[in-house]
Amino acid sequence: MEKREQLYEGKAKKVFLTDDPDLLIVSYKDDATAFDGQKKGTIVGKGAINNRMTNHIFRLLEKKGVPTHLVEELNDRETLVKKVEIVPLEVIIRNFSAGSFAKKLGMEEGIKLACPTLEFSYKNDDLHDPFINSYYALALNLATQEEIDAITKYAFTVNQVMREYFAGLGIELIDFKIEFGRYHGQIILADEVSPDTCRLWDKETHEKLDKDRFRRDLGNVEDAYQEVFRRLGIQ
Ligand code: ADP
Ligand code: UDP
Repeated sequence: MEKREQLYEGKAKKVFLTDDPDLLIVSYKDDATAFDGQKKGTIVGKGAINNRMTNHIFRLLEKKGVPTHLVEELNDRETLVKKVEIVPLEVIIRNFSAGSFAKKLGMEEGIKLACPTLEFSYKNDDLHDPFINSYYALALNLATQEEIDAITKYAFTVNQVMREYFAGLGIELIDFKIEFGRYHGQIILADEVSPDTCRLWDKETHEKLDKDRFRRDLGNVEDAYQEVFRRLGIQ
């Protein structure tokens, strides 16, 4: 597969066209940002970990019936993926209170929710990704009802599969963000699943093994990413 010009450079990844109009190459960077890009830094080794972790989880999800953009891992940092039209919704699932949810609702972090919950943000940097519901998504033509139904169903399946999988690694899946895209009329899982996009706590010690270590200056950021990667057993 021939790598062609860069289509996009985001905060965590670069995206390249290929000689196949249906396929892209994503290249994961070590760059880290938080708080709407205001805080910037580097997490050494993050790109390779996030690339390989995403692909590992996406393979597992495919087996469980969730279609994904994964085509082929090309090397440590780069993966060939299906080129989708991203649905401009950040889909957030939560199992425990944390982050903006805990703050908004005046809760401590780490309280188990009575059931998993789902929320949408409108993926729009200028507006700082505002919280919206499915009626807004319909009213703004961001997705159809059928697409929202598919996204909701897949998102809860992703949660179920990942929760069980991480539990086996001694990790509690607190919350996560995923993105979906349209590929030849079908909704498929795109983007990434990594310590950048999930809150992962050690089940025993509740130590944070995710990007909150960077966001909150907790130290040992690289170690946390390495620890999650080590537990995946894919070295
Ligand atoms: P951001 O855009 O938030 O800075 P990234 O640095 O992760 O995020 O950039 C990757 C971009 O590529 C994101 O905007 C994401 O929605 C998009 N993307 C992810 N997977 C695909 C795909 N399969 N096809 C097209 N775009 C994708
Ligand atoms: N998240 C993300 N990208 C975003 C916003 C959130 O990957 O732009 C993830 C975040 O890592 C966490 C979950 O979504 O796992 C819920 O984040 P929250 O709404 O609590 O926001 P935050 O506290 O990160 O601002």
